[in-house]
Amino acid sequence: MLIGPPWVRPIKRGAAPLALTLVFDQALRIRPSMPHCRHWLRTMDLQPQPRHLLPPQPLQIRWPLALLDPRHRRGLDPDGEGLVNLAVTLDGATVTRIEPLPWTVTPHLPLTLPAAVEPHCHLDKAFTWSQAPNPSGTISGALEANLQEHKRRSAAAVADRMNRALQAAWRQGYRALRSHLDLGRAGSQATWEAVTHTWDAWSDRLQLQAIALAPLELWSTTAGVRLARQLARLGGGPGGALNHHNTQGSPWLEHLARMLRLAADHGCIVDLHMDETCDPRSRCLEGLLDLLEQDPLPVSVTVSHGCSLAHHTPEQLHRTAARLAALHIPLVSLPTTNLWLQDRSSSRRTPRLRGLAPIHELQDGGVTVAIGGDNVADPWFPGGNFNPVELWRFAIPITHLHPWEQRGLTPFTSAPAQVLGLSWDGVLRNGCPADLILTEASSWQATLARPQRLRVLRNGAWLT
Ligand SMILES: [Zn+2]
Repeated sequence: MLIGPPWVRPIKRGAAPLALTLVFDQALRIRPSMPHCRHWLRTMDLQPQPRHLLPPQPLQIRWPLALLDPRHRRGLDPDGEGLVNLAVTLDGATVTRIEPLPWTVTPHLPLTLPAAVEPHCHLDKAFTWSQAPNPSGTISGALEANLQEHKRRSAAAVADRMNRALQAAWRQGYRALRSHLDLGRAGSQATWEAVTHTWDAWSDRLQLQAIALAPLELWSTTAGVRLARQLARLGGGPGGALNHHNTQGSPWLEHLARMLRLAADHGCIVDLHMDETCDPRSRCLEGLLDLLEQDPLPVSVTVSHGCSLAHHTPEQLHRTAARLAALHIPLVSLPTTNLWLQDRSSSRRTPRLRGLAPIHELQDGGVTVAIGGDNVADPWFPGGNFNPVELWRFAIPITHLHPWEQRGLTPFTSAPAQVLGLSWDGVLRNGCPADLILTEASSWQATLARPQRLRVLRNGAWLT
């Protein structure tokens, strides 16, 4: 019986028949048919596209000049928001020609952005708010609700949530996501089963990376070694949370050193929830930097949050930024969850400290800074929706990252691509993927003024 979700749609570059689409949407429940379907889809790629799925040629768009390769900038005169009008010719899934368009001929073209990259999310607990609510909005309340939810986890439930999250991300223009996953605790087996199935089902549409958000001491055990080996096969690696409160009285530096060595030995990446607190005593990042300076290892390390960096003096921050830059460690700032959780009081007191990492100062020091969406409808943050343009709309006023400047654009585009090690940096140039997000607006002002209905172009064909 053909019963499917409302997002039944053509997949990849062809208009797949309804039944095939449903097999994909319910891939986790109909596993045996997957290899056959994949082969069928690959052959679809070679067939002509239905005309209604193809954009006009050339595609006329408005584009941020700072995200245009300098070789294509000649003769372009950006408007006051740094935008230019372009005619983009596609050959299948690739951009093959980029030409300027005069303002007078086409004044209202859609502001267009590269397909998005999520550098930090939590797919396994997305959409758990209704079953694990946290009405207090506190960190302790979130942790308690999260741990209770772990006890009830099943592989099917986690897989359904992940599939829902990835459908939303895919349909709203994401091309790659790095997810932290609760592992090494109750419910881990269910989570792992769901992850392996989900990664397999989505690997031909989205680039996915898995980071285990686990107790630090796990990485000093045989179970941790085994998990690191499994994560390496998924292009991921170990993670954890380090702050002043959860490291007190613990030999955390020894465990961290073992984790880094383990990651290097198995070719893993590392991503740590680092100093996610407004407590100025939280300076775990400095311990990490000490370790990596003493023993440089061939491992890609990312730090996420960095809230307590806001308490550094300008001199301390300058020094920390220089150390991060020298070690090529990017920082992922996560404003939605930080603003929701940080400086929250049980009394009705207005928050003063917003938990935002000092993005501009880190950029000044040469650090790659990316913005991520973090939690979606879970005990840690009830909002979020895997919509990259909504994340821009939320983060721009909070961070003062101006989208008409290169340093305001890169945290949402090139920096997340760099964090994930992707081949495309999101800069438009001949030969780049025809993977774009078209808004309804013609300016950044209009984009900030109201939510945007998006058109998503993937592999040179309309996805939505
Ligand atoms: Zn997180």
